[in-house]
Amino acid sequence: MSKIRVLPEIVANKIAAGEIVERPASVVKELLENSIDARCRAVRVTVVSGGKRLISVQDDGEGMSQDDAILAFEHHSTSKLQTAEDLSAISTLGFRGEALPSIASVSRLTLRTKPADAGLVPGSEIEIQGGVMRSVKPVSWDKGTEITVRDLFFNVPARRKFLRSHDTELGHIARLVTHYALVHPETRFTLESEGRVLVDAVAVRSVRERIYQLFGEGFLENLIEISGQSGPVKVHGFSSRPQEQRTNPYSQFFYVNRRMVRDKVITSAVRKAYRNCMPASAYPVVILFLELPFEEVDVNAHPAKTEIRFRDQTTVHALVLDSIERALVQNASIPSYQHQAGRFQTLPENQPAFPPARLDAPAEGNRDVFDFTPPSAAPNPFQRALNYPFREVPAGILGQREESHASLRVLPEMLYGSPSEAGRPFQPEAMRILGQLQESYIIASDSQGLLIIDQHVAHERILYEKLASSMQGSAVEVQGLLVPISLELAPHQVALMERVMPELRRNGFEIEGFGGASVLVRSVPALAGDSDCRKLLAEILDDLEAEDRTLDVERIRDRIAVSTACRAAIKINTPLTPEKMQWLIDQLALTRIPTNCPHGRPIILRFSLYEIERNFGRV
Ligand code: ADP
Ligand code: MG
Repeated sequence: MSKIRVLPEIVANKIAAGEIVERPASVVKELLENSIDARCRAVRVTVVSGGKRLISVQDDGEGMSQDDAILAFEHHSTSKLQTAEDLSAISTLGFRGEALPSIASVSRLTLRTKPADAGLVPGSEIEIQGGVMRSVKPVSWDKGTEITVRDLFFNVPARRKFLRSHDTELGHIARLVTHYALVHPETRFTLESEGRVLVDAVAVRSVRERIYQLFGEGFLENLIEISGQSGPVKVHGFSSRPQEQRTNPYSQFFYVNRRMVRDKVITSAVRKAYRNCMPASAYPVVILFLELPFEEVDVNAHPAKTEIRFRDQTTVHALVLDSIERALVQNASIPSYQHQAGRFQTLPENQPAFPPARLDAPAEGNRDVFDFTPPSAAPNPFQRALNYPFREVPAGILGQREESHASLRVLPEMLYGSPSEAGRPFQPEAMRILGQLQESYIIASDSQGLLIIDQHVAHERILYEKLASSMQGSAVEVQGLLVPISLELAPHQVALMERVMPELRRNGFEIEGFGGASVLVRSVPALAGDSDCRKLLAEILDDLEAEDRTLDVERIRDRIAVSTACRAAIKINTPLTPEKMQWLIDQLALTRIPTNCPHGRPIILRFSLYEIERNFGRV
C-alpha cells in the first residue's frame, strides 16, 4: 500500500488555519478585509472575552447568494482571482480563498448573508462547526454579511493555551480595527466589546480627519506631514516630530496600496530617518501610505498577507528615507511656551489649529481620502460625548496616548506671524545674545521674543553632525593618548567589543586586543578632546548592548557619534564668553536639525512676545 495520502480537506484547512489564524485579532483581520473587499460603507466588530468567546463582523457590503456562500467555505475558493496572471497584480485585500475555510475549521461559525440586489429572495444562514457544515437555511435578512465566530480553537487545545489575557487579545483587536479605520476614512468602523463601544469612527472625508477622530486633537500637533514621489512610487502620511517618542512600535502604521503591512524595507528607512534626532531605543509615531502599481509589489509572500515584497526595494527605501528626512529638516521648530497648556509645545506652523468644530455631516460622493488638508468636520461635541474613540480601552492597550488639550487655542504665531522663514527655525543674524543663565543657558532675543538655549545640547548637536559626516567621509581626526589606557571588559562585553572594534578603529579609536578580557586604547577621536575615554568607551558598549535590534554598521557608528558628542560637548555650569556663545549659535544654525539633540530633547525654548505681553496683562 502506498504510504502517501492526500489529506482530507478538513485536515488541510486546519493546517492552513495554523498559518492564518494565530489569535482572535487574525480572525478580525480576515473578516474585516473581506468586508472591505465587499465594498461596505460600514462595518461593525463585536467581541466577547477579547474575541476568545465570540467575534462577530457585520457589514453592509455586496453580500453573497446561497450558492456562493456555500462555496466560500471550500478550500481555495475566491471571487477575487481567476487566472494565474491575476496573481501578479492584485488589487483586493484577499485573493487566496483560504480564510473562511480556515476560520471555520477551528471554531463554531455562523454566516448570515444576502446580496444587495436580491429583492424579495431571503438571505442565507450557514452553520459550521470545526469545519463540518451543520446547516444551511433561509433567513430573513436585510443585506450584507455577518459572520460570527464562537469558541475559537475549541478543537485545537494547543493553540487555545497560547491565547493571552482578555485585555491583551482585545488590545490586538483594537489596534487592528484602528489600522484599517485609518486607511479607510470613507467607511464607518465600530468596535464593541461586551457592550462598551471602543471605536465608533463615522465616515469622514480624509485620513487627517480620521486621525483626529481616532486619536484626539493633541495627536496631530506632534506630527509632521510626509510626502514624496519617485517614479511610479508615491508616499504620503504623517510622522513624529523628534520629541514625540514612543517606547513601542504600536503607533507605527504602514500601508502599501491600502493594505496594512509589516515590512523591513519601510521599517529600516524610518529608523534611519530618525537616527540623528531620536535615541535608538525610541520609536517615532508614523502613519505612512505607499502607493505603487500593483505589479510592483508581490503580496503573496505569506498566508497572512501582511508581508510583501517590493520589486524595487531600493527605490522604496530611498523614497521613504528622503521624504521623512526632508520633512524633519523642513519642520524643525522651536517649542513655544503655551500659557493654556502650561508647558512648552512644538506647534505646526502652517496650519496651526483645527477650525472650530462644525456640526455638519461629512460630504458624500467622490472624494480623495488621501486629501491631507486640515479637517473641516472635526468630531462634533455630541459625537464626542457619545462615543469618543478609545476612551474605554483599558490602559496600556494602545500604548501611550497623548492627552488631548482642552480647548482650541489662538496661537501666538497667528497674531505675530510665523516664527520661521523659509523653513529655518531661527535666524542667528537676527538674534541678540543677552547673557548666560546659571552658566548653563544662553539667553537671547529676536524679533519674536526671548530664546533660551541649552549650551550643552546645542554643542552636542554641532559635534554630533560633524562626527557623523566625517565618519561617512572617513576622515576622522585622531588624537594620540600620552599614556595608553587599558580597559577591562566584562565577560559578556568581549564578543561585543570584537564586533564593534573595526568600527571604533575606523572612527579614531586606536584599540588593541590585550589578551582575554582587556583592551589597550592608544588614541581617541580628536573631537573627544580630553574627555574621559574610559567612560566614553564604556558608555558606547553599554548603549550598544542595551539595543535589542541588530547591530549594523550604521547603528554602531551612530552610537559612537552620539556618545562622543555628548562627552565632548561643553558641559552645563561652564561660563562662556560672549564670543563663544555667538560661535555656538552660529554653528548651531548650520546644523540640519538645530532644534533637537540626537536624543530628541529640545535645544531651544521660546517665550514669544505674545506670551510675555499676555502674562503682563497687555493682551
Ligand atoms: P478571499 O478573501 O481570499 O477571496 P476568503 O476565504 O476570505 O477568501 O473568502 C472567500 C470568498 O467569500 C471571497 O472571495 C468573497 O467572494 C466571499 N466573501 C467573504 N466574505 C464576504 C463578505 N463579507 N461579503 C461578501 N462576500 C464575501
Ligand atoms: Mg478574505
